Amino acid sequence: MKVPFLDLSRMEESLKAALKTKFDEILENGRFSGGEEVEDFEQRVSEYLGFTKAIACANGTDALELALRALNIGPGDEVIVPALTWVSTAEVVKMVGATPIFWDTDEWGLLKSDWEKAITPKTKAVIPVHLYGKMVDMESLMTGSKNQELFVVEDAAQAFGSFQKGKGAGTWSDVGCLSFYPTKNLGALGEAGMCLTNNVHIEKKIRLLLNHGQPTRDQHELIGRNSRIDTLQAGFLNVQLDYFKANLDLRKKYAGLYFEGLNHLKEIKLPIGILKEDHNAHLFVIQSKKRDSLQKFLVENGIGTAIHYPQILPDLEPFRCKGKFQNARRISQEGLSLPLNPWMKRNEIDFVIQKICEFFEK
Ligand SMILES: *Cc1c(COP(=O)(O)O)cnc(C)c1O
Repeated sequence: MKVPFLDLSRMEESLKAALKTKFDEILENGRFSGGEEVEDFEQRVSEYLGFTKAIACANGTDALELALRALNIGPGDEVIVPALTWVSTAEVVKMVGATPIFWDTDEWGLLKSDWEKAITPKTKAVIPVHLYGKMVDMESLMTGSKNQELFVVEDAAQAFGSFQKGKGAGTWSDVGCLSFYPTKNLGALGEAGMCLTNNVHIEKKIRLLLNHGQPTRDQHELIGRNSRIDTLQAGFLNVQLDYFKANLDLRKKYAGLYFEGLNHLKEIKLPIGILKEDHNAHLFVIQSKKRDSLQKFLVENGIGTAIHYPQILPDLEPFRCKGKFQNARRISQEGLSLPLNPWMKRNEIDFVIQKICEFFEK
């Protein structure tokens, strides 16, 4: 048996057919930038997330950069980011000319709760990352940042569909950012992203920034750029949204099966709270001292896995800085993402469980 980590060509046939129909519709319609598909998509996400303002854009990295620009963060400013995350979180801080200040994570990869110790007179913002789909404790983070008069930009790129106390990931802070990269829980057939905010002034500014500063054509109020979403991607995402809830339920079901099957193994640590509401089961990351040999054993048995992420950002050349970052570094050495997606079959989950048990019990 071969179990790929993720193979998007396995999407269900009915979904594929609906995507093809959408492509035909848009092709016949002849509008490829902006238009109804984009408006519908924004409206549907907004509704799902309790009527927050939803601004679609070209990708999740741009969403983060637009957020920082809209909040006037730039040269001379410091922004606190977790040491373990996808590179975008820190990259955008550099792109606007500010300085990322790295802080360790907790044992699960979320910004450690003592992050306020990183604050200096230059600190302007903090970017909590809902890593693997699990939400940072937003109530306490928002309290801490409000007391210190800091902006908060949520990196919810991995957390669409996670809710804490009924409030969606990305809707807690000044600006929340989503990614619809193909491998995310809600994926386009290409690149797309979104900013979320409850502030109409910030909404307006982000809309200007992502479209050359134009409120209407040929009027340019500020220096912006082109970071618009493709009409085609918005159309595909409208189709994917119809399948989102059912596929989230499948992810949860499979995560539950992994839990049952692996819970007795003393040598691995299972993800915390993955069956709860504030986790969207985006990634199933186990932790083991024998990570590398386990990964090798699984590959030999036809099972694909992934590592999110093999290096912490402060160890990478463009971000190089000293520090222990103990938890983040340990996760980079011990974390292993198991295949978890709605296009797997039950017997594939069972096979992965069986092989992991075999590895530890042989
Ligand atoms: C995917 C991701 C992004 C970036 O999204 P893109 O759409 O690929 O630009 C940012 N942050 C995190 C944590 C991500 O996982």
